Order: sequence, then structure tokens, then C-alpha cells
Amino acid sequence: MIKSAKRSQGVSYAIRDVVIPAKKLEKQGKKILHLNIGDPNKYDFDTPQHIKEALYEATKTASFNGYAPSEGYPELLDAIVEREKIRNKMDYKTDDICVTTGVTESLQMLLNASLDPNDEILIPGPTYPQYNLITWFNDALPISYRCIEEEGWQPDVDDVRRKISNRTKGIVLINPNNPTGAIYSKKALKEIIDIAGEYHIPVISDEIYDDMVFDKKQYATASLAGDVPVITFNGFSKVYLVPGWRIGYVLFHHNGDLDEIQDAFMRIARSRLCANSVCQRACIAALKGPQNHISEVNDKLRERRDFAYERLNEIEGISTAKPEGAFYIFPRIDAMKQGIWKNDKDFVLDLLHDQQVLLVHGSGFCSTYGKNHFRAVILPKMDVLEEAFTKLDKFMKKRLK
Ligand code: PLP
Repeated sequence: MIKSAKRSQGVSYAIRDVVIPAKKLEKQGKKILHLNIGDPNKYDFDTPQHIKEALYEATKTASFNGYAPSEGYPELLDAIVEREKIRNKMDYKTDDICVTTGVTESLQMLLNASLDPNDEILIPGPTYPQYNLITWFNDALPISYRCIEEEGWQPDVDDVRRKISNRTKGIVLINPNNPTGAIYSKKALKEIIDIAGEYHIPVISDEIYDDMVFDKKQYATASLAGDVPVITFNGFSKVYLVPGWRIGYVLFHHNGDLDEIQDAFMRIARSRLCANSVCQRACIAALKGPQNHISEVNDKLRERRDFAYERLNEIEGISTAKPEGAFYIFPRIDAMKQGIWKNDKDFVLDLLHDQQVLLVHGSGFCSTYGKNHFRAVILPKMDVLEEAFTKLDKFMKKRLK
């Protein structure tokens, strides 16, 4: 047997791993209720028509079917600068932006540019799992800091401070958060920025869900940061409903502290050629065209969030904090204490086999601060959510008898 690389051996992705047993059941003719997929286009959400048309239009220009500039088309960079001016009162130069193949590639390239073996990066617990995975892939160590469930999953600022070491190369914020749906308070953001400034560590702020909010404003970290360096990730997958187009971007905010990392990032960007060319053209139209789909999406999600929050809290053995943005809910399985299941993955698989409802186990988002929870998406229509939670209720009653 030819061996795979050591660094590939620990790679697993909870969100997609649970799909394998679900597919087996589907093959046997069972209907699965999917509450596991963080992709709005798999539910009753679709890309706005004018953005789709812009994609087709782009294909009519020969050069747009060719490679794009490595950092992205200038018109897209200009449109991003404009969005930042209007939304966040930020004044970015186009040189401080790079368009990538989704936020995922921004994250890969940034960590490739910043981490040496055994470096550390502070990551919220629970987190979007790619942060841990890509850190491991760079032979560095993801260090989870606690988010406080009782406070709607706000970051525990004292824990952030406690976990800083002389190898810490970044403090990650995900705001709004996947998997908890938390929107971080201005106070928590400022306190974390202050810690970062004190220890001269950049903040890495993932704001891919920034306009998917239900009741409260989301503050861009960089807009509160002053002189503290902030690297922001954003993209089109969620707010513009084009996850399959794979377009994201990175914004560098600093007074020279990040010159070396930014230079490394841009060299890596050139070495991987470019992000998808025609999709970039359509993303210009996405930023410049009508934005009314955003409030329409949020209205639907708010109704589903309200229902999910109330209904889940009625179920014996389950309790949940209220998400404020994104499209996830992260309930606690209080009944884990009773020793019915070995762990939260066992719970998710038991539910899947018994009731054909598919969730993702919380430990996949953080083995310390995510365990004994599950993540559900609030993207399905109300009747599907209702059916899924009724089945969960029935399952809990049966197991807790
Ligand atoms: N960041 C967060 C917090 C996410 O939840 C996701 C996808 O679920 C991504 C990044 C991936 O974004 P992209 O599709 O732009 O690669």
C-alpha cells in the first residue's frame, strides 16, 4: 500500500461525514429530513435573477472566459471598496483586497502565509470546523477558546486572554457565528481587539454571514479596530445565495504590521492563478444591483428561527439559546447526562436511524465546547421544520421513557 501523507490522516469533516449513513438509508428507499446542510440553495432560496443573468452575460465576452487577474477583477475590487464604505465606514484600498475561491481559499492562503509548525491560533469553541482542519494542515495547533452558551454564545474574553501564548499568530472571530448563530456584542469585539493590540496579534474576522441578521446589528471588527490589524473574510456564498460559485475575498486592515503576511498571501494568490472569472463578473452585479433579496431572506429565516427556538425548547431533554444571525441553531442535549448515548455523534446516528432526521453532532464543531450539542439548520420550510422537530420530540420521549 502506498502511504498517504501523515497530515492528511486526521482529516475528517463532521458536516459531510454524517451524510454517508444517511445516503445508505436513502438507497433503501427511506426519506431523510435534512437539517444538516449549510446551503440555502438546497432549500427554498434561490440566487436573485439579475445575478444569474449577469453570469450568462459575462460568458458572452471572450476575455471573461479566460483567466482573471490573481487578485480579482478591478471592478469587483472597486465594488467591494464601495460596499465597505457604505456598510462599515471603512476606507480600503483595492491593493488591500484579494478575491478568492470562497472564504475557504482565503482561509487556506492566510494560514499558509502566517503559520509555522507548532504555531497556535485561537479559535472560537464551537467553530466552523475548517478553522481547526486548515490549522492542523499547516502543522500548527488550533486552540479553542470558550464561547458562553448562557450568554447566547458570546466569546469568553477572559478565556481568550488566558490562552494567548508566545506562539499565538491570530485570534479568530466568526461573527455571526456558525454553528451558534451568535452575533458578537460591540463590547466583546472591542475587548478582544484590545487584547490583540496588547499582544500584537492580528484578529482574523470571518464575516461571511454579516447581512444575515434577525434583530440586531452586526459590527465589522475592522470598523472598531483602530490601529489593531484585522484580516476580514467575506464572500458571496451566503448573503448572495451563490455557494457553488465559490467567490470570497479577504480584506487587510493595518498600518504596515501585516505587510509581510499580505505580501506572502498575494504571492500565494498569484501561484494559484485566479478565482472563477465569470462568477466574479456576476458578483460585481450582485454588489451593484438591487439588494432587496437580503431582507426577504432574513424575514423568512427570522420566522423559522422563532419557531425552531420555541419548539426545540419544548422538547424534553433539549434546550437551546436563541440564534441572532446566520442560519443555524445549536441546542444542548441535556439528556446526554442519562448515559443513553455514548456521545453526541451516537445521538445523531440513533435519531437518523430511528426517525430519519439528519443533524450534525456538536463535537464536530469543537470537541470541548461543542460536545453534547447538535447543529440544525433553520433553512427548511416551516412544515419540514415542524415535521423534523415532531419526530425529534417523539424520539426523545421514546428514549427517555
Ligand atoms: N466561513 C464560515 C463561518 C462558514 O460557515 C462557511 C460555510 O459554511 C464558510 C466560511 C465557507 O465559505 P465559502 O463558501 O465562501 O468557502
